[in-house]
Amino acid sequence: MPAPCVIGVDVGGTKVLACDVDAGLTVHHRALRRSPAPSSDVLLDTILSAIVEVRDAAERELLAVGIGIPSMIDQRTGVPEFTAHLPLTGVPFRDVMAERLGVPVFVGNDATLATLVEHRFGAARGVPDAVMLTMGTGIGGGLVMDGRLVHGAVGAAGEPGHMVVDVDGPPCVCGSVGCLETLASGTALAREERGSRAAAHDSELARAAASGREITGALVTELAHDGDRAARDVMALIGMRLGLGIANLVNLLNPSVVVVGGGMVAAGELLLEPARTVVRERALPPSRDVVRIVPARFGEEAGMLGAALFALDGSGAAAAAA
Ligand SMILES: [Zn+2]
Repeated sequence: MPAPCVIGVDVGGTKVLACDVDAGLTVHHRALRRSPAPSSDVLLDTILSAIVEVRDAAERELLAVGIGIPSMIDQRTGVPEFTAHLPLTGVPFRDVMAERLGVPVFVGNDATLATLVEHRFGAARGVPDAVMLTMGTGIGGGLVMDGRLVHGAVGAAGEPGHMVVDVDGPPCVCGSVGCLETLASGTALAREERGSRAAAHDSELARAAASGREITGALVTELAHDGDRAARDVMALIGMRLGLGIANLVNLLNPSVVVVGGGMVAAGELLLEPARTVVRERALPPSRDVVRIVPARFGEEAGMLGAALFALDGSGAAAAAA
């Protein structure tokens, strides 16, 4: 009889990814759903259909399902408490999914679960103390201390994007102002790009905008790689601010490794080198002298694979306790 499996699911603002894995994190089947989510009912059905597709294809015993969502999760209840981009706030998500699937379900923050997979199999493998920041539209993250993922008192630890780094900064989706993600995310990149373009009329960035192209983080990254000065300046500014956030984390936690993931890490050294420079200048010794700031190994599948690991850990713990 084939070995049992777990299914990991990543629920994003525009798509749902699901896969089944074995204990070695080998993926056997994948399912993808586009998820414009007008209501929680539609979204729950979409997530379930992706899981059922993978479960039916796997033809193996299903031990548990792990689901990562971009939200703070109260682990006492399994209820998402703050979900800016999905209609799940206040929904008894874990219990509803477990009831409909008939297996244990483990729900976590997507970036925290990405941290789990980077720690076990990726850029922070073998390191006892690590921090991850995922840079996309916002900034998420996670912490590993003494070899274990840090969950905090009720499961909501690891939100570096909402560290305040400017008391008079721009408003944030969380209700505060000057959070790191208002200054160093893809959203901040787009805002700074507009200012940079106004200052540098002869740049490729300005010409791209004048020709009607949508200015995205990916385009700024591409132009920066091509050597466009305005695009490089914007990326350096974002990298410097990222470095400020990392310097705070380095002073607080003294990690060996800081992993930077998410879509913006496609900029590579154009983003990471300014961040390293700021950390060398502004974090305290000896922490600043030992920390390595590195790109993530896993790309857009990190949340899904981390969710599968979370389910493996959770189902193993449940079996041991039985
Ligand atoms: Zn915030």
